[in-house]
Amino acid sequence: MPRASFTSLGCRLNHTEAAVWAGQFSAKGYTIARWGEPTDVAVINTCSVTHRAEASCRNMVRRTLRRSPEAFVVVAGCYAQSGLDAIREIPGVDMIVGTEFKDTFADYLLRPRKLPEPVVLHSARISRHEFEVPSTGRYDATRANLKVQDGCDFFCSFCIIPYTRGRERSRRFEDIHREADELAAGGYRELVLTGVNIGRYRSGGRTLADVADDLETIAGVERIRITSIEPTTVEDRLLEGMAAGRALCPYLHLPIQSGDDEVLERMGRRYTTKDYRDFVERAAAGIPGLGLGTDVIVGYPGETDEAFDRTCRFLDELPFAYYHVFSYSKRAGTRAVGLPGHLPPQVIAERSRELRARSDRRRREFARRHRGQTVDVLFEQQDATGRWTGLTPNYLRVAAVSEAPLANRIRPVRVTGADPGVPGLATGALLPE
Ligand code: SF4
Repeated sequence: MPRASFTSLGCRLNHTEAAVWAGQFSAKGYTIARWGEPTDVAVINTCSVTHRAEASCRNMVRRTLRRSPEAFVVVAGCYAQSGLDAIREIPGVDMIVGTEFKDTFADYLLRPRKLPEPVVLHSARISRHEFEVPSTGRYDATRANLKVQDGCDFFCSFCIIPYTRGRERSRRFEDIHREADELAAGGYRELVLTGVNIGRYRSGGRTLADVADDLETIAGVERIRITSIEPTTVEDRLLEGMAAGRALCPYLHLPIQSGDDEVLERMGRRYTTKDYRDFVERAAAGIPGLGLGTDVIVGYPGETDEAFDRTCRFLDELPFAYYHVFSYSKRAGTRAVGLPGHLPPQVIAERSRELRARSDRRRREFARRHRGQTVDVLFEQQDATGRWTGLTPNYLRVAAVSEAPLANRIRPVRVTGADPGVPGLATGALLPE
């Protein structure tokens, strides 16, 4: 049987798509090899969110060509969409797959063998229609991702995603149910709903809250987690579901991007700091133990020292468990490129370091806040020290010692402390089930 192997760079959605492709190739008779093992087809799902991400993609492609000179190499995804010419210049690539062809390129691979020139499946036009995914994802972990939506119509001024992934479109409701059913039958107990702008999910009059309600009815689905969701798009029904303590996890990752209103306006974000604060305070008041994370872009054009300080203070005042910090990076074709006040790289690097240090402090505080509590942990794997680690519904990572294997088991744990070496890692003792 031919072998195929997959890897992804970038966001959770990219990883989700590569996992679905693995399922699709498996159904076509391929053996799925781990990345790095000998393979006949090597597929790289690429990212173009920053210059650095694009450079990592080119390095990954070159490394793959060196390591597997006989393999048929497919370069797919966002950077294949936006960086077609750059990828074409890398000798040895056999297929380049833009966004429109991501779910169908397997059909073109009848007898994959090395080619003198790459096959290019690419179009500037990207469908806006509802979609289905071609298979069921294959994941190593105990959590499975479930793609519900793609694309974005918000066009924030710094963001390239609406150009690389296209406009908003939702996955057919029934097709989400179909994959969730198969994932649950395969033993995955937690489903993580993914997309680009998932709060905008609409299919046949149904919303994301309807998707969550529907998934709760599937036997074996014990946890449903929503990934990053735009602050202006969260339905009250989702907050009510999280507060109810059933399968929907009390966890929100709400990108703020800046804590300064002028910067937010120049970013083209759809809220003020007051809107965001009001929403977070309402959510935190209604959802016991809410785990809250955010994204922040540092060094946006025109971000003054005062604006950065306001961002730091704003973040300090809300009950975040962590921040993901992104250094601003120019993306050709976005409005932000033409804004005045681009900052020197060393200023951006310094501010990024400062916020990352603050995020580490928040992670430690979040872990310490749970000391003395009993939490349910879905265990995943052993860490380097032999402890089993897993996540609570509110996204706290917990480590516990166990002689018996705990992978994919949900066990109550008494939190006893926080690991001093790993920000955000709580330690605890297993309790009887
Ligand atoms: S909401 Fe803004 S940042 Fe998020 S994908 Fe859409 S355009 Fe990009």
